[in-house]
Amino acid sequence: MKKIVVALGGNAILQAGQKGTAEEQLANVRLAAEQIAQLVIAGYQVVLTHGNGPQVGNILLQNAAASPAVPAMPLDICGAESQGFIGYMLQQSLTNTLWERGMSKPVVTVVTQVVVDANDPAFSKPAKPIGPFYPKEEAEKLMAEGLAMQEDRARGGWRRIVPSPQPLRIWEREAIISLIDSGAIVIASGGGGIPVVETPTGLRGVEAVIDKDLAGQRLANDVGADLLLILTDVEAVAVNWGQPNQRWLSAVRLDEARAYQAEGHFLAGSMGPKVAAACNFIEAGGEMAIITSLQTATEALAGKTGTRFTR
Ligand code: ADP
Ligand code: MG
Repeated sequence: MKKIVVALGGNAILQAGQKGTAEEQLANVRLAAEQIAQLVIAGYQVVLTHGNGPQVGNILLQNAAASPAVPAMPLDICGAESQGFIGYMLQQSLTNTLWERGMSKPVVTVVTQVVVDANDPAFSKPAKPIGPFYPKEEAEKLMAEGLAMQEDRARGGWRRIVPSPQPLRIWEREAIISLIDSGAIVIASGGGGIPVVETPTGLRGVEAVIDKDLAGQRLANDVGADLLLILTDVEAVAVNWGQPNQRWLSAVRLDEARAYQAEGHFLAGSMGPKVAAACNFIEAGGEMAIITSLQTATEALAGKTGTRFTR
């Protein structure tokens, strides 16, 4: 039985332009669950991970709106909240979808901590924008309080930026493996996991965001997955993206992928980390990584579409 880690992109839960009502999110998750169910029925041992950008953004907005009546929570706790509620939606949708197909399987979410290095260079240059947009005066106040902020001219406002360190280890790895071995479909490391550092007195959450594709790769290698399937909103990866000579990649070897990456074919905030995750996974012993869209997951596994990365 092949073990597969499936990384769901943000679109699978909340689409651009949607407000993020519970109904909208549940409807999207339901569609994602239909695709995942097909993998389960096809006999794959599925481990799921997912993004949380829009959800954590909304939690941060709620914090800002309700403070000081309700104390605002730090980013690690907001991340944990988002893992809980997205995990719940996925658990319920997958359970229902499988049940309709006459299948019953435990589906479990693990609130996941991901260890990062306190000396990761990312901590000295925050780069990942998160949460609400603020007017200049308010941004200046927040900066005076010690927060790093960056102007987003295109969208007319200032946003908080946080470090995006490399994921080193999935802290709950053994528990996740036991659950997988027991036959459960496990949802783990949502939103890239809750970043924690190891200190002499134990683990401590940090104000940072780990890229969900890189954390998904870490999870995949840590649980000994055969395959890493990254599902996003494009059917495949292209070189010369958006240019007249754009070309879709169907199968790439590790060295080719690394070379294209170095040539700058994959954008830093979007496709870059996915290709890096695919390459890292293969390099660390994974058999194959695939990048494709949610809708084409099954076809891509059959080799009919998507971009396949192998050694
Ligand atoms: P997700 O929410 O799934 O992480 P992202 O928006 O972060 O999605 O990444 C997917 C996007 O990457 C695509 O919608 C596409 O616009 C962009 N992209 C950047 N470079 C490439 C490329 N070389 N080939 C395909 N898509 C690319
Ligand atoms: Mg992304």
